[in-house]
Amino acid sequence: MHGLMMNYPLTLAQILAHAHRIHGDKQVHTLLPDGRVHRYSYAVLYGRVKRLANVLTGFGIRPGDRVATYAANTYQHLELYYAIPCIGAVLHPLNVRLAPTQLAEIVREAEDRLIFVDGAFAAQFAALQQHIDCPHTVIFNGASKMPVGAPLTRYEALISQADDTYAWEIQDENWAMGLCYTSGTSGEPRGVLYTHRSMFLHTLAVNQADAFGLTEADVVLPLVPMYHAMGWGLPYACMFVGADIVLPGAKPARERLVPPLCGGDNPLANLIAETGVTVAAGVPTVWAQAYPELRKRAQDISSLRQLIVGGEAMPPTLIEAYEKELGVEVRHAWGMTEMSPTGTLSTLRRAHQQLSDTEKWKVKAMQGRPVPGVEIRLATESGAELPWDGNTMGEVQVRSHWTARRYYKIEPTAEHFTTDGWLRTGDIATINAEGYMQIVDRAKTLIRSGGESISSVALEAALMKHPQVVEAAVIGVPDEKWGERPLAIIVLTQQADEGTPAALKQHLASEFPKFWIPDRFVFVDEIPKTSVGKSDKRAILAFL
Ligand code: ADP
Repeated sequence: MHGLMMNYPLTLAQILAHAHRIHGDKQVHTLLPDGRVHRYSYAVLYGRVKRLANVLTGFGIRPGDRVATYAANTYQHLELYYAIPCIGAVLHPLNVRLAPTQLAEIVREAEDRLIFVDGAFAAQFAALQQHIDCPHTVIFNGASKMPVGAPLTRYEALISQADDTYAWEIQDENWAMGLCYTSGTSGEPRGVLYTHRSMFLHTLAVNQADAFGLTEADVVLPLVPMYHAMGWGLPYACMFVGADIVLPGAKPARERLVPPLCGGDNPLANLIAETGVTVAAGVPTVWAQAYPELRKRAQDISSLRQLIVGGEAMPPTLIEAYEKELGVEVRHAWGMTEMSPTGTLSTLRRAHQQLSDTEKWKVKAMQGRPVPGVEIRLATESGAELPWDGNTMGEVQVRSHWTARRYYKIEPTAEHFTTDGWLRTGDIATINAEGYMQIVDRAKTLIRSGGESISSVALEAALMKHPQVVEAAVIGVPDEKWGERPLAIIVLTQQADEGTPAALKQHLASEFPKFWIPDRFVFVDEIPKTSVGKSDKRAILAFL
């Protein structure tokens, strides 16, 4: 017997309409390249999104067509996050940090019909444009320096001429809404094709109190780029609850990966102080780089109450620094592009409240428990399920309403999906009896020495506890006798001297068995980073 409730499709048009009707006065703040902050309300955004919808259909974009963005986090990008899926087309945010040839391959595979380009990236887009065959390009933000290739149209001119009435009609909640490629940390990028339904349910899931826990009173700063795993779903999560959004824009001239708001004249603290940011989200590298500036408290950053951190393990020392020194709660999340991206979060249980602060930080440094709606399990290579005892290591497999069941244009293989329909994450972890998962490593970078496993994540976290270590990455290097041995790449606060490796070895010896201790330490000024700010272990290996 079927129930008698409305079968009302779950679509992003509902999120947009709710944000407009219920939270129309809430603000979107964007840091402009000249340092000023652009502000408008959700109500203004809504009108512009409808105009943009007409612009898109004017270009002949129809449901199912892929439309790319090549942009930083700005209000125009937010408008595109709604207009493209809400006309039934597929939003495809391009990772501006990928090499032009790699991106060209992605654009070719996606068959993007139109690209929206942020003028801040005009020069680097020109390098990409030579390699792609996309019929139309629209540009916003300071387009004057755009080297002209394909026909180019200006965003504001199109918006101002467009009609501002549009009736959203997503006929099926299973229509594709977005296409995002993995960032390619351990292999070639693969496309994940989200549906309206999956993103809607992800939005509800992350907005639970024990997940991101955003509310209408929040002012949220996504430092995570909108091309990294759909900006962790924040563009939708924020607007559904009616939180103000603060977008950091782009720093055009930066060659290397520097988070847009770190270093120099302390723009991150300025922006937090100016807009009253309460929650900010980004990868651990961002928070490691921002900490020295934030701790100076040159501005009033007391509004900041919570960080959402993921993409890589957040070292316990950094959690402690933010919680103890700055009084900011750290919410450590684990996920993947394939999971929209949220899978688990390490929030404390009531039973943890009696623990010491140090013990609490240990819990928070784990990747945590599944968000309701996500199921996880541990399995051996051959697929046998493993116990949740906090010791046994296995591959994490997941399923949820917002997890991919296959990749875009790639036939599902046993490497990525199990026969009973779970995603193989490629992450090696333990899970304890309370359901807290702790990532040991990625299967591809797990160090196997003399038949035993060594966790690079655990070694990195321990090295970071040493007062002279700013950053650490541990990788496995081939070894004739043991198969592989760990090697540590370290950034120090000061010049290394002869005694430094011995001191670091001694520091590790109290926590780990002898065979875990790296044989070699390499001291560098900077650890190479991937396009989304994770330690680039493939680049480190190539560089050795
Ligand atoms: P890529 O695999 O190309 O880096 P993603 O950004 O989707 O693309 O990365 C997902 C992977 O990032 C996960 O499978 C896991 O290895 C790693 N990851 C994400 N969050 C965490 C975390 N909190 N701790 C440890 N690893 C994490």
